[in-house]
Amino acid sequence: MACTDTPDLRWIDTHCHLDAPEFGPDRDAVRARAAAAGVRHCIIPAVRAADFDGARELAHRFGDAYALGIHPLCTPEAREDDLVRLDEALARYQGDPRLVAVGEIGLDHFVPGLDRERQLFFYREQLRLARRHGLPVILHVRRSADDLLRELRRQPVGGIAHAFNGSTQQAHAFLDLGFALGFGGTLTFDRALQVRRLARELPLPALVLETDAPDIPPHWLYQTAQARAEGQPQGRNEPGELAAIGRMLAGLREMDVGELAEATTRNAGRVLPKLVDLAKATKVAKVTASEAAPGPDNLRP
Ligand SMILES: [Zn+2]
Repeated sequence: MACTDTPDLRWIDTHCHLDAPEFGPDRDAVRARAAAAGVRHCIIPAVRAADFDGARELAHRFGDAYALGIHPLCTPEAREDDLVRLDEALARYQGDPRLVAVGEIGLDHFVPGLDRERQLFFYREQLRLARRHGLPVILHVRRSADDLLRELRRQPVGGIAHAFNGSTQQAHAFLDLGFALGFGGTLTFDRALQVRRLARELPLPALVLETDAPDIPPHWLYQTAQARAEGQPQGRNEPGELAAIGRMLAGLREMDVGELAEATTRNAGRVLPKLVDLAKATKVAKVTASEAAPGPDNLRP
């Protein structure tokens, strides 16, 4: 595994809650550290209607991308009206190159006390909206892969199954439907045997990288339950960790880290096609800006 920093690499953090209150005090510094670590774009998925504007504004401020959706854990407070707001926002920002997906949506069958029927209703309706607006989806999958897949077969749409933690069979079912699978901090833990096995053995085009910051800290930021009980705060994850997670994945796959960065960035563009246009537009903007800037040639008399 390479141990040097690789700031020249161009990573994409396909799942980063930069709009979370945890980043309130130092959001700009967090994003600057990610840029210094070689993260070109973060994708900021909104989790509820009240956050739609915030996610969009942040993406524009930082030159990033965003997704709009209602997260399964937010369905208890969500109103059916919020689906109308989502529909309207997707229509209004259709031409916005930074709006790349409908998300974060999905089903959570791990957290107790959630109404499954209600989750399923919001999931189905948001798949319908994604299809109507021609956008892929970013899915939250927790003990719910089979139910998510069943609905996707009825309403086919591609995208990313984020923080994937299912079986090999479920992984291939998502791939067959045109999805990529998101891997992040979990693969840095020795004991995450299944996730590590998938990250090592799945075909390279299946993989995209993510931090899910501020959640899912890699093992070097993680505090055990005991340490937390003794007053150590849980380490806050941030998008700048993506490069180290990427180096670890390259190590697991015994491949060159540069090739991994290139491949996972290409994979993200395949499943979120608007990202490709965004990357091109950013490049053109940079070139234009440097051409316009007064260089030594322009200063000659
Ligand atoms: Zn998330």
